[in-house]
Amino acid sequence: MTPSNAPLQLENSTLLIDAGYVAGEWVRKSQSNKTFEVLNPSTGTVLATLPDMGRGEVKAAIDAAHTAQKDWAKKTGKERGAVLRTLYDLMVANVDDLAAILTAEMGKPLAEAKGEILYGASYVEWFAEEAKRISGDIIPGHQPDKRIMVLKQPVGVVASITPWNFPNAMMARKLAPALAVGCSFVAKPSELTPLSALAMALLGEQAGLPKGLFSLITTTASADVGKEFCANPKVRKLTFTGSTSVGKILMRQSADQVMKTSMELGGNAPFIVFNDADLDEAVEGAMISKYRNNGQTCVCANRLYVQSGVYDAFAEKLVAAVKAINVGDGFDDEVNAGPLINEGAVAKVKEHIADATSQGAKVAIGGRPHKRGGTFFEPTVLTGVTRDMKIASEETFGPVAPLFKFETVDDVIEQANDTEFGLASYFYANDLSQVWKVTEALEYGMVGVNTGLISTEVAPFGGIKQSGQGREGSKFGVEDYLEMKYVCLGGIPS
Ligand code: ADP
Repeated sequence: MTPSNAPLQLENSTLLIDAGYVAGEWVRKSQSNKTFEVLNPSTGTVLATLPDMGRGEVKAAIDAAHTAQKDWAKKTGKERGAVLRTLYDLMVANVDDLAAILTAEMGKPLAEAKGEILYGASYVEWFAEEAKRISGDIIPGHQPDKRIMVLKQPVGVVASITPWNFPNAMMARKLAPALAVGCSFVAKPSELTPLSALAMALLGEQAGLPKGLFSLITTTASADVGKEFCANPKVRKLTFTGSTSVGKILMRQSADQVMKTSMELGGNAPFIVFNDADLDEAVEGAMISKYRNNGQTCVCANRLYVQSGVYDAFAEKLVAAVKAINVGDGFDDEVNAGPLINEGAVAKVKEHIADATSQGAKVAIGGRPHKRGGTFFEPTVLTGVTRDMKIASEETFGPVAPLFKFETVDDVIEQANDTEFGLASYFYANDLSQVWKVTEALEYGMVGVNTGLISTEVAPFGGIKQSGQGREGSKFGVEDYLEMKYVCLGGIPS
């Protein structure tokens, strides 16, 4: 355990990097000479001071990516896969250090951070394997002398923007399929958590990624960088994970170039418990789905609908489980909930609780900032929550479980779908016909039935409605980085 405020102790200290990575060079000084600090949200300690880059550096990174992509695309899938496989091996070999960097910059408990590194690595492994399977198609011709072929080709330079809640995995899920199919990659991680991404860039370099193929922009000027990504004609694809509001800005900006986009945006996940559910399993699922990463994931249960026959029993069991959560510094072995990322996150949680209680909801446990101070917050359960409260329509992104009571299946389906979002959804039930009906009726990209944990590299992760477009993971995950070309070969003698 690294005690609070002690310098970060790593086996391989070179993984803690104080530079951006542009066109294959580690850059310590930005063109503007500006810098910014990366802080540990548990302690406020400065972890690194980084160059604050702007459009000049982004242009240089895009130019290098444009050049490097040509040769990379000429390699066989097996050759590209081999480099990615080496990157996977390096991530696994350095998991302890990568997890420590992640916990330090983001705050999540070390065990969860290790889980994230291995989860991110699993995408690198998966797409290293998929690199060999970018198959096209042959379609019977429409005239006797014609043959029709469909080729799949890399889109080219990919720009990536990722958030702070999974600083390793969100980028890995994009980087791996892009490189596997022959694209190059220019990434902008969150200004709050760039260190995990930088460590990955170093491992990528060591794995043998060609110079310039992968650049990493360290910056607080997100809007400027986003504009360059969208305006630069050498960029052919923008992949984004973050809020729906920023996703919409980027979609508007990318319209000028008719750029291909993948958008992994906000959620407002319903978590439904029917009368016939196994309550202990439902509570276990709710704990994972709601409180993992301290409620700071886009697939976190945001609204818990519990059928009236089991409402009180479920609430009681959930409160008992929440009581056992130990809030504190992620480096402490006993801790399973870290701080919230910043003051803004705390304000949103407080606002949702105040709004709900002012309209009649009751605090069953928690409800206040944690006595540790800073951005620590008590894991909270609210009962008596109704649909006109803010928490019903906005993503809380914090450790608050609001319990709504419902009577009938049709009623809960209507309430669950009454949102502009459509990312993850969950329900617990045992009647098979009901399971099928509810699965089909939920307007979401992902449905967890009798489970609170649905993320895996072997499945297509993604949302519908205002939760975005595109899929990450599985055999479908390469499609977002490929163009389809149809070739009509004529003049074939019969
Ligand atoms: P979150 O609430 O998860 O921080 P954001 O959408 O604000 O979600 O941030 C996700 C990522 O988008 C971060 O890397 C952030 O720096 C970046 N970002 C924020 N605003 C813009 C913008 N106008 N253009 C491009 N990127 C942005």
